[in-house]
Amino acid sequence: MDFELTDEQKMSRDMARKFAEQEILPTLKDNERQEKFDPGIMKKMASKGLLAPHMPEEYGGMGLDYVTSAVIWEQLCGASLSVTQATVSGPIQPATNLLDAGTEEQKNKYLPPVCKGELIMSGAVVEPNAGSDSSMIETSARRKGNNWIINGSKIFITNGEIADVVLFMAQTDKSKGIKGLASFIVERDTPGFSSTPQKGKISWRGGSEGTLNFTDMELPLENQVGEIGNALKDALRGIDTARLFLAAGCVGVAQSCLDSCIKYAKERVQFGKPIGGHQLIQEIIADMATKVEAARLLTYRAAELKSRGVRHIKEMSYAKYFASETALWVASQAVKIHGSYGTFDEYPVGHHYQDAIAATILGGTAQMHQLTIGQQLLEMAAFK
Ligand SMILES: Cc1cc2nc3c(=O)[nH]c(=O)nc-3n(C[C@H](O)[C@H](O)[C@H](O)COP(=O)(O)OP(=O)(O)OC[C@H]3O[C@@H](n4cnc5c(N)ncnc54)[C@H](O)[C@@H]3O)c2cc1C
Repeated sequence: MDFELTDEQKMSRDMARKFAEQEILPTLKDNERQEKFDPGIMKKMASKGLLAPHMPEEYGGMGLDYVTSAVIWEQLCGASLSVTQATVSGPIQPATNLLDAGTEEQKNKYLPPVCKGELIMSGAVVEPNAGSDSSMIETSARRKGNNWIINGSKIFITNGEIADVVLFMAQTDKSKGIKGLASFIVERDTPGFSSTPQKGKISWRGGSEGTLNFTDMELPLENQVGEIGNALKDALRGIDTARLFLAAGCVGVAQSCLDSCIKYAKERVQFGKPIGGHQLIQEIIADMATKVEAARLLTYRAAELKSRGVRHIKEMSYAKYFASETALWVASQAVKIHGSYGTFDEYPVGHHYQDAIAATILGGTAQMHQLTIGQQLLEMAAFK
């Protein structure tokens, strides 16, 4: 068991950190105040090999292992989880899904431009009445001759308002429940497709979310991805990769908060000494550091199992659940340690606190991961 990063991983870590400092941090405050995401960052990230580290080289990725990918995501998200997620979400979730379930033609058409930042791809599962429970999906797909007719809507979709192409799930036969679900790919200029930006967020203001609407949208049969009934199973590796990204991202968020607290606690003087000299502050910082380290180890462990192709359902849930709860707790403590200064965007802790809230929800809520862990340990499901 070796807990040291390799030289290659250290190089990737340093390159990702430099990119985050040069390309994410300078515009973060302004963009977040305006709830604006600049997709131009995708090509810049791709040019450094950071946009799709985990994707195979033949489809435009870097072909790196998942531990190295997690190290990269941790550094990028140490600047901003929401900006990084909006930037890399296409290569992470829908692209991985397409890699598993798509035809060679579909993969060759979409994956290289997505991995190079030339095409924005969203993955759309969630609907107004179907969040954690995908069996409630109401978007319908009806066969008419050589076409599918799609009607319905999706909500909270990352880059939904700007995506060039969307991989989405729809129900082909309600009576079959999840066995009726199928995946489809749609390009933005298809008649019947529309989207709206979702503004007014209290979290992920640096990211980009939107709703999608499909109204009598006709898709040729070749736009179906995978088999009917396999859509959820096919999506699992993409969802699993998104969970790893979020776990690693949350480690980055928590580490950045800890770093900021250590610096601030040495500088800020109250009651005649730096606040870091007060025992109650040291207690919080010690708890922060311990949880950050534990979250990192759980994340790298899940990444290592995933790289080796070993079953890791429970381990990925440990990582995503613990890292996101840790990020939220650490960020909330970090705001308090910075006092009123922490409630303004002069320091990174306020941004991280906002981002950490949504990180506990997407990629599976805390309860969904607790139920998954329970199911794995008890060999019985508390939910469908
Ligand atoms: C910033 C952001 C980006 C997103 N991007 C995407 C995207 O690109 N594509 C996409 O498809 N979706 C996306 N989502 C949606 C996200 O995946 C869902 O919000 C998430 O799956 C939870 O669904 P929900 O919000 O409907 O909550 P619900 O499922 O309605 O859950 C509400 C609450 O009830 C709890 N709960 C539900 N069922 C149970 C149960 N059986 N037992 C105990 N507790 C339960 C949940 O844990 C939660 O606390 C995004 C969300 C956010 C915030």
